Amino acid sequence: MIQTKTFYFNDLRECCYVLWDETKECVIIDPGCYSESEKDRLKKFIESNELVPVKLLNTHGHFDHIMGNAFVAETWNVKTFIHPLDKPHLERTSYYSDMFGYKIDEPPLDTIDIEEGETIGFGHSSLKVLHTPGHTRGGVCFYCEEDGNRFAVVGDSLFAGSIGRTDLPGGDYDDLMNSLLGKLCKLGDDYRILPGHGPETTIGHELATNPFLGK
Ligand SMILES: [Zn+2]
Ligand SMILES: [Zn+2]
Repeated sequence: MIQTKTFYFNDLRECCYVLWDETKECVIIDPGCYSESEKDRLKKFIESNELVPVKLLNTHGHFDHIMGNAFVAETWNVKTFIHPLDKPHLERTSYYSDMFGYKIDEPPLDTIDIEEGETIGFGHSSLKVLHTPGHTRGGVCFYCEEDGNRFAVVGDSLFAGSIGRTDLPGGDYDDLMNSLLGKLCKLGDDYRILPGHGPETTIGHELATNPFLGK
């Protein structure tokens, strides 16, 4: 059974998730760790739980979600999995760093493409990929279909009580609504939602209360 740990990293309080199972293999999703102390917190957690990172997954390429890509890739020698439509964000990291005044280590560009419907394995477990454009063109959600442990890591597509911005480059409101109502929410009410910022929620709760998903 997959277990999850949430870290809140950098000024934007970006949610980084570590997922592992009984084999101790783990994946690290959206490592936004920026300061040395944040990187240290992630490293200490991995080490003290004797986890073995095998993959780095990005829900999308925005700089607050990839600040620690270089650190994770170098520390644990893992490849980065990202949708090809968001790879340009990785390639332009230094531009974004300068614009926002951050000093971000260049993320590795030898990434592995992920697409809708793919399965990403670690240990005895697997996650499936939904392509959910709208916040960015290559945004994806990673979801787990285990009985009694269903959840989706959704990046900045859906938040508790809100939805992702669509006014940034590559954003599109209609695409996002199609992704949310046509794909993500169809997974089922019982799915826990692990968003890119803020507290976790469920699909059922959001469909009932989120004003942006109102019928
Ligand atoms: Zn974003
Ligand atoms: Zn974000």
